[in-house]
Amino acid sequence: MVRRRMQGRVFVISSPSGGGKTTVVERLQRALPRLARSVSVTTRAPRPTERRGRDYRFVSEAAFERLKRSGELLEWARVHGASYGTPKRPIERALAQGRDVILSIDVQGARQVRRTLGARAVLIFLLPPSLEQLRQRLVQRKTDSLLAVRRRLAAAKREMACAHWYDYQVVNDRLASTVRRVRSIVDASRRESSYVASTH
Ligand code: 5GP
Repeated sequence: MVRRRMQGRVFVISSPSGGGKTTVVERLQRALPRLARSVSVTTRAPRPTERRGRDYRFVSEAAFERLKRSGELLEWARVHGASYGTPKRPIERALAQGRDVILSIDVQGARQVRRTLGARAVLIFLLPPSLEQLRQRLVQRKTDSLLAVRRRLAAAKREMACAHWYDYQVVNDRLASTVRRVRSIVDASRRESSYVASTH
């Protein structure tokens, strides 16, 4: 007998800052409403367009340390001088319900998720078409000073050097086709995991 068993997966999307992953994840969620998005905790200050609880949970360094110490984070990392982490409980809840979750996190976090969840995690790296285009996007975004842009570009080079150990690399050239490609990765992984053969 072949028994159908739902198993949630964790899709990890990484890209350098300005690599466009926020927009890609938003579009993906619209197309796949059952895909739960993890809201990270961070110690960095909110940007003017960001909403508390929707984009991030903004917390103090002390509150972040408490979350870390009490084992409430699936992974955490220091990125651009601030701390970021993924709360564990909402992920466990979604997976237990057979729902897939999407995490938008950096390469250090992706490594920890791979270590903890193994093949249950699907790692996708969004590559900018070129470093020059990435620089332009960061400048146009106007959320960072020129010094911060320079720092983020240097970090982008380091992060892109990690793309090869991700399961998939997608060049984010045109939004619609990037979303289509990421969506087909999600669909293919779901087909793989939703049937578990068991004989009685
Ligand atoms: P930003 O400050 O531009 O929103 O994010 C900076 C970097 O931190 C991005 O690469 C983003 O993916 C990463 N990031 C956001 N949330 C998390 C998280 O929970 N864990 C980790 N490891 N990285 C995160």
